[in-house]
Amino acid sequence: MRITEIFHSIQGESSHAGRPCVFVRLTGCNLRCRWCDSEYTFTGGEKKSLDDVIAQVKSYGTRLVEITGGEPLAQQEAFELIRRLCDDGFEVLIETSGSIDITPVDKRAKIILDVKCPGSGEVAKNRWENIDELRPHDEVKFVIADRNDYEWAKQVIDDKKLERQEQTCQSERDGPQHKQRRTSRQATRRSAVAANPTHVVDSEVSLSCDIVSRFEPDF
Ligand code: SF4
Repeated sequence: MRITEIFHSIQGESSHAGRPCVFVRLTGCNLRCRWCDSEYTFTGGEKKSLDDVIAQVKSYGTRLVEITGGEPLAQQEAFELIRRLCDDGFEVLIETSGSIDITPVDKRAKIILDVKCPGSGEVAKNRWENIDELRPHDEVKFVIADRNDYEWAKQVIDDKKLERQEQTCQSERDGPQHKQRRTSRQATRRSAVAANPTHVVDSEVSLSCDIVSRFEPDF
């Protein structure tokens, strides 16, 4: 398989943010998002065997691994890599654009589905059937470039009933005692967005485990 980089760092996104994590960044992507920050993954990379990749992952002594890219599922060997890492007891996150069928991904791995908003220029590539394949431990992410993306993302959350799925998933995982605290946290975040929508630039909303908003300066 073709690998751009493997490194150990702190997870910066999703409900796993803050945890030590090994990142396996696969080369190649079938999309070309306007704001892509990983263009260096489009070409090049180094050919490595599955055994070599797994050995390097193990060398860091960290149990959380993210398979990312580029688009990691664009390489057929990625599915085998994910299965073998799960077999070895790793907690495996898959950061995928959702443009490729996630059905063959090992069910023990956790999908972070990056739904492409109109501002990305790749909204037509969303494979909506993937939403139906998500399980309670999976997450959905939107990268929001402008107000239009924000409104679009809210509509998708409503249309696909993602918030209801999120609450169902949370109830399954946490039990009823956490529901009140979570609902209040979500309301606070929504209020922050509503109060200053012009600053909803390069924000991300993660669903399924929690709603996380990140506010950054304009591009
Ligand atoms: S899917 Fe990810 S790697 Fe591919 S173009 Fe979009 S942002 Fe870049």
